[in-house]
Amino acid sequence: MNFIETRGNDGEHPLEVTFSSAILAPIASFGGIYVPETLPELGLDFLQDHVNSNYKTLARAVLTAFGIDIDAAVIDDALSLYDEFDDVTNPVPLSKVKDDLYVSELYHGPTRAFKDMALQPFGVVLSALAQQRNENYLIMAATSGDTGPAALETFKNRDNVQVACLYPDGGTSDVQRLQMVTEDAENLKVIGIHGDFDDAQNALKRLLGSAPFKAKLKEKNIHLSAANSVNFGRIIFQLIYHIFSYLELVRSHAISLGDKVYLDVPSGNFGNALGGYYAMKMGLPVEKILIASNKNNVLTQLIKHGQYDLRKMSVISTSSPAMDILKSSNVERILFDMFGAERTKELMADLDNDNHYELSAEELIQLQAVFAADFCEDDEGKQYIKDTFSAGYLMDPHTATCFKAYDTCRDKPLITIAYSTAEWTKFSPTIANALTGEQDTNDIDALKSIAKEADIAIPAIISDLFDKEIAQKTIIDKQDIEKEILAFL
Ligand SMILES: *Cc1c(COP(=O)(O)O)cnc(C)c1O
Repeated sequence: MNFIETRGNDGEHPLEVTFSSAILAPIASFGGIYVPETLPELGLDFLQDHVNSNYKTLARAVLTAFGIDIDAAVIDDALSLYDEFDDVTNPVPLSKVKDDLYVSELYHGPTRAFKDMALQPFGVVLSALAQQRNENYLIMAATSGDTGPAALETFKNRDNVQVACLYPDGGTSDVQRLQMVTEDAENLKVIGIHGDFDDAQNALKRLLGSAPFKAKLKEKNIHLSAANSVNFGRIIFQLIYHIFSYLELVRSHAISLGDKVYLDVPSGNFGNALGGYYAMKMGLPVEKILIASNKNNVLTQLIKHGQYDLRKMSVISTSSPAMDILKSSNVERILFDMFGAERTKELMADLDNDNHYELSAEELIQLQAVFAADFCEDDEGKQYIKDTFSAGYLMDPHTATCFKAYDTCRDKPLITIAYSTAEWTKFSPTIANALTGEQDTNDIDALKSIAKEADIAIPAIISDLFDKEIAQKTIIDKQDIEKEILAFL
């Protein structure tokens, strides 16, 4: 299967590219992003055949249906990383929280957040492609907390790939920072900068678009790429767990094959929700996808009112920081799928020029046939954490936003799968505050207090971080980033 562009094509670049090119060079000619030309149809027979498949078998079958140009041996290598998750037999456990509410836990990988679900296998695939082509890649990432650790972890010591990861010094949690600065490998460079996440992100964008920087890399025989969430190499791995969680419900007799469910997704850049959308288009019986946001509620406004409006918005810091996003990149793929390339180009141009676009009434009806949305304020989220804990389930502030959408967005009493995107260990001060009222606790004290309150152990993978040696000590001004990266290469 080949890939085409969401905003059409300029006629000078290839009209379609292979999966491997879409991964290695994710920038399309009209500034759009790559989407599969068609989606494979799976249907109920496929689901029936895989009711009892384990995660890797199902994943292999879904990837095969896409017909991507990756060797089976590489795919097997990539999927074998799921063996390192907490439960060798199942990377994505499902917990029943209410009679009609199940939580699919996407955080059982090495960095304790859902980014591992896609980045773990993605790292193997990208490195294998680079080796096959005899090319070297610099992967750049700017992170506010979860992408950085997951990208470092997946590319650590892999051949033909080096990573430069920018984070705002003081702008991440202690756990997130330690996950990055304790990574010790020759092909990884972690750079703290004086500034906030926007400074890190802007520095990244500047370098990705800088001709002189690329020329200097070329002298060293290095290609430039980015580990951002629009890369289809990440999206493809985010389809699988939606299907797997549905089949878990069938296996446990909570539903019968063919019954519709709600998917309830805490959303930022919309990669997770897009995976659910594609799964639905491929035949997964889904009633609707509920899009949960925090106070940065552009997605709620879009889905309720058909307006993507950034004119009066600026990013607000919330207690679910991985969702503090206003330009939700993967929405473009939904626009393309529903309204076509020409209309997508028009809408995205409106957004670029006016910070705003508006769907027609018919388009909005089409969008609302698939999605419903609501947002959750920090205080409401804390209440959900506290109440849900009292009922026996501990969750993080991102997951909590789904509980609001579960309460407000469903119009049928169908079983709902909510996605948990981070372990409690990653956002412990907020959770400790919700459970005990304590304020301004640092991570280690918050971890201890939750562990005591919930009578659980702090996972060693997290507690060990506090004793590990700091391997990455670079903290610099943003104008020195380029020099620092070139010196590292
Ligand atoms: C990245 C992330 C999200 C948002 O996921 P998208 O695919 O960008 O919508 C939600 N929660 C956590 C903890 C994350 O790390």
